Amino acid sequence: SARFAVDDKTEVREYFNTEGFNRWNKIYSESDEVNTVQLDIRTGHDQTIQKIINWIKADGDIEGKSVCDCGCGVGSLAIPLAKMGADISASDISDAMSTEADRRAKEMGISNAKFYTSDLESVTGNYDTVTCVDVAIHYPTEQMTGMIKHLCDLSDRRVIFSFAPKTWWFVGLKKFGELFPGPSKTTRAYLHQEEDVRKALEDAGFKIAREEFTGTNFYFSKLFEAVKA
Ligand code: SAM
Repeated sequence: SARFAVDDKTEVREYFNTEGFNRWNKIYSESDEVNTVQLDIRTGHDQTIQKIINWIKADGDIEGKSVCDCGCGVGSLAIPLAKMGADISASDISDAMSTEADRRAKEMGISNAKFYTSDLESVTGNYDTVTCVDVAIHYPTEQMTGMIKHLCDLSDRRVIFSFAPKTWWFVGLKKFGELFPGPSKTTRAYLHQEEDVRKALEDAGFKIAREEFTGTNFYFSKLFEAVKA
């Protein structure tokens, strides 16, 4: 229900403005203040980012194109894409996250990237490419479908989307309690069936063009590139 979504979002926003920010800002950096689980997640996430960059590099046409990155975190994807010459509009529901992304970009002298705080459902505009990496874990499946529809509506050409796949061994791992590092407060984590994501993209008028899977010990992410059919 809508009520559920609001509660989930409030919890996610609070988490990524406080403890979650501290934890993920360290994971998404070169800081050595990480434990082995966090280091493993950093490695897996880096691989997902690199796979996206490799696709875009292979296409060789991102310069001057508009890219909207929803749930941008600290800018792990938006910043490298800005360096490749894309015109970046990136947002995150957490003000701490988008502020840190902006700080990192400014520190590198990047001027073709705009970072702001927004729930992805409130993002508007039309962009060549819309990206949304490892954000769907915060969306119950009923809400994930609407989320994908919104991302597709923002995109003129292509959507790049990743999520934690709901496979039996991953469900087992999550039950084991090792999905999120550290002993303290986390958020609820939602896994999605690959077929549900595929169908949501297709129903929104997009067709899967490329796909990848990245799995380390504690990080699992299925990655789709979908293009307007
Ligand atoms: N996409 C980034 C990356 O790959 O480096 C960050 C991934 S991090 C696991 C998930 C991010 O999604 C967090 O920064 C969180 O604040 C953001 N997020 C969660 N729900 C969101 C929503 N409804 N709208 C915008 N951002 C959201």
